Amino acid sequence: MKSSILSLVRENIKAMKAYSSARSLYTSGILLDANESPYSLVGNQDGLNRYPDGSNKALREKIAQIYEIGLENLALGNGSDEIIDLLVRIFCNPAKESIMILPPTFGMYRVAANMNDIGIEEFTHPEFFQWEKNVLPLSLRVPEILESIHPGIKILFICNPNNPTGSTFNRMDILELVEKSPCIVVVDEAYGDFMKEESLVSEIGNFSNLVILKTMSKAYALAGIRLGMAISSSEIIELIQKVKLPYNINLLTSGIFLDQPDFSEKVKGNIQQILLEKEMLQNSLREHPLIQCLIPSEGNFFLARFHESEKVFEELVNRGIIVRKVDPKFGLESCLRISVGTPEENQLLIEALHQIHASHLS
Ligand SMILES: *Cc1c(COP(=O)(O)O)cnc(C)c1O
Repeated sequence: MKSSILSLVRENIKAMKAYSSARSLYTSGILLDANESPYSLVGNQDGLNRYPDGSNKALREKIAQIYEIGLENLALGNGSDEIIDLLVRIFCNPAKESIMILPPTFGMYRVAANMNDIGIEEFTHPEFFQWEKNVLPLSLRVPEILESIHPGIKILFICNPNNPTGSTFNRMDILELVEKSPCIVVVDEAYGDFMKEESLVSEIGNFSNLVILKTMSKAYALAGIRLGMAISSSEIIELIQKVKLPYNINLLTSGIFLDQPDFSEKVKGNIQQILLEKEMLQNSLREHPLIQCLIPSEGNFFLARFHESEKVFEELVNRGIIVRKVDPKFGLESCLRISVGTPEENQLLIEALHQIHASHLS
């Protein structure tokens, strides 16, 4: 992708001026500029009466260190869900243009497109329908995808590892798509911390149209604080910073990172534990009589195809165990998505499935 990113941006976004937020210029002194209260209500949470820094600079510096990238290559969102919505709004003209997705995939791309009146083009992979072959990573059909990207398609979303299948795409295939696509390519690495293959973060210097999404919601165990990020070229990061709501990351969220010691060792340990437990769970369920097949996964979850998924789902709920029903379209009929829990939780799931089977026999 050689042409400028700006040629892909909506005219109104190019033309607009960003909101000038209160705490971007002055952060200390006698602050009489933002109609805040001069009183702090919660004594030990100093500064909650003040607006946060709209550019999130301190937090971005901390997170840029984790991913070993420059500050100019990082934007933060209220979860990566917010970034997905912002990207759609920056690049796609409502009622005219489209995104391309590779279903079955994460539902939020579709929701963001629908919310903004943007078209959705689907490219499905025949490989998704051949689970029994257990081939991973899947090859992306690069020539066919490139052929179907017309000028009205502004963003291609690739989820790697993919939710809900847990499958991964070949790294070289993704990079070829990034290189040859005339549009923005978003690679959603929400589960990237669990995969064997290296992240694409090291490639951002090579492709100005590549956006990598990361989140603190999965491996980092912080879904509740709502923090996601875009890692990309400085051109795209500037656009996100321009259109995001002025104070999208609140002080309680940034405080978790700024006030705490480094989480990284703890997170690494958790990832290892979860991957081991996934192996254990899959090994215990592989020959289970209720299950037709398990889909190999590089996430912290996996799909299982049951003989009767509706019944199993209900009976698990009755036993207090909640798994996820998935859209049966695109080859996922009768599949349930199972997140890897603690060793105790996983054991309870295995026991419950044995009980459900036994009760059907009697
Ligand atoms: C969970 C998930 C996200 C994370 O969204 P947040 O808004 O950051 O919690 C993003 N993409 C995929 C594919 C996911 O499964």
